[in-house]
Amino acid sequence: MPILTSGYAARDESGHMSPFVFEHRDVGPHDVHIKVTYCGMCHSDLHQIKNEWHNSSYPMVPGHEVVGIVSAVGSEVTKVKVGDSAGVGCMVDSCLKCDRCLESEEQYCIPGMMIGTYNAKNFDGTPTYGGYSLDIVVKDHFVLRMPSNLPLDAAAPLLCAGITTWSPMRFYGMDKPGTKVGVVGLGGLGHMAVKFGVAFGCEVTVISSSASKEKEAIEVLGAHKFLCSKDPEAMKAASESLDFIVDTASVKKDMAPYFGLLKIDGTLVVVGIAPEPLEIHAFSLIPRRKKIAGSLIGGIKETQEMLDFCGDKNIACTIEKIPMDYVNTAFERMTKSDVKYRFVIDCVTIPTADKMPEDARKH
Ligand code: NAP
Ligand code: ZN
Ligand code: ZN
Repeated sequence: MPILTSGYAARDESGHMSPFVFEHRDVGPHDVHIKVTYCGMCHSDLHQIKNEWHNSSYPMVPGHEVVGIVSAVGSEVTKVKVGDSAGVGCMVDSCLKCDRCLESEEQYCIPGMMIGTYNAKNFDGTPTYGGYSLDIVVKDHFVLRMPSNLPLDAAAPLLCAGITTWSPMRFYGMDKPGTKVGVVGLGGLGHMAVKFGVAFGCEVTVISSSASKEKEAIEVLGAHKFLCSKDPEAMKAASESLDFIVDTASVKKDMAPYFGLLKIDGTLVVVGIAPEPLEIHAFSLIPRRKKIAGSLIGGIKETQEMLDFCGDKNIACTIEKIPMDYVNTAFERMTKSDVKYRFVIDCVTIPTADKMPEDARKH
C-alpha cells in the first residue's frame, strides 16, 4: 500500500508554498520509511521553487536536509532499524554500478543518473518529493546515520550545507592547519565552511557583502578575519593573502575582486549556483596561475564521515527553527540574506493528510 502523507509544495514559478497531500511508494525490501521531524531550508530550494535554474517541475515538495525517526524498514535493510534517527541528503538513488558510484561519489554518477531527493524522477518514472513533509521513503544506501549527541534539528543542515562545504575542503586540501581559507557568503553553506575551517586549524577569512555580520563571524563562529566585499579598500589591502576561496554566494557578482584575494597558484572553488553565468576575465587567472574549480554536494561515504566528525567534535549548524506555515516568509528573508544561518522547519507542525484543506489534494 502506498503511504499517504502531507507536506508543502510549490505549484508554479511564483514559488508560493501551500499544503499538499501526496503518496510515497510502499516500503520495498531495500527501503527505509522515515517519519520526518526536521528539514533544513537550502537556497537551492529557493532557486528551484522559482525555476531559477530552468529545470523545475511542479508540484514540487522541496527539502534535502531531512532528518527523522525510522518507522519501518524493508526485509534486506541492515544499516538502520526502527526507532533510529536517520537522515537523507540531496540524493535518493543512482546507478550504483559505474566507477563513480563504486567510489561512493554517487553525486557524479557517470550516466548522469543521480536522482535528486526532489524535483527529479525515480527510475520507475514517479516524481521524488522532499522533506518539507511528514514522511519520506528512501533506498537504504542513501540513508545516513545521525550522530546521537547532536540535536537533530541543528544536525539536519549538515546533510547539504555541511557536506557541500566539507567535500571540496577535503578534496582540494583545505583541511591542513595553517591553510588560509576565504569563505564568500555567510549563509547556510558559508557558516559551515567557517566551522569546518576552524576545526581543521585553518586561518579563516569571511568575505561577506553584509558588514553587519562581522562581529558574530569572529566572536561566535570563530573566523579569524572578516572582509566586507563592498569595501574596495579593505579588499585591496587583503590582495594575494589566501590559498583558497570557497564561494557560496547565491547570486552573480563581479568575480575580479575575489580572485584578487588569492595568492599565486590559489584556487577558488565555486559551490554557490548563481542562476546567471559567471563572468571571469582571463586576467583574473593567468598572471598569477590561479585556478577555478567546482564541487557538487558529496558522496554517501564522505557524508557519513562528515556526520561522524561533527559528532566527535560537537559541530552542528546554527539554526532558526520555524513552523511549516512560516515557510513563505522564511524564503523571503533568505532572499535578503536575513538568516542566521539556516532555517529548519519543525515538520511536526505540518497537519496530517486528513486535516489538510481539500485543495491540498490538487496535483
Ligand atoms: P544562503 O544561506 O542564502 O546564503 C547565501 C549567501 O550569499 C548569503 O547569505 C550572502 O552572504 C551571500 N550573498 C547574497 N547576495 C550576495 C551578493 N550580492 N554578493 C555577494 N554575496 C552575496 O544560501 P545557501 O543555502 O548557503 O546556498 C548558497 C548557494 O549554494 C546557493 O546558490 C545554492 O543553490 C548553492 N548550493 C550548491 C550546492 C552544490 O552542490 N554546489 C549545494 C547546496 C547549495 P553575505 O551576507 O555574507 O554576503
Ligand atoms: Zn542544498
Ligand atoms: Zn553511477
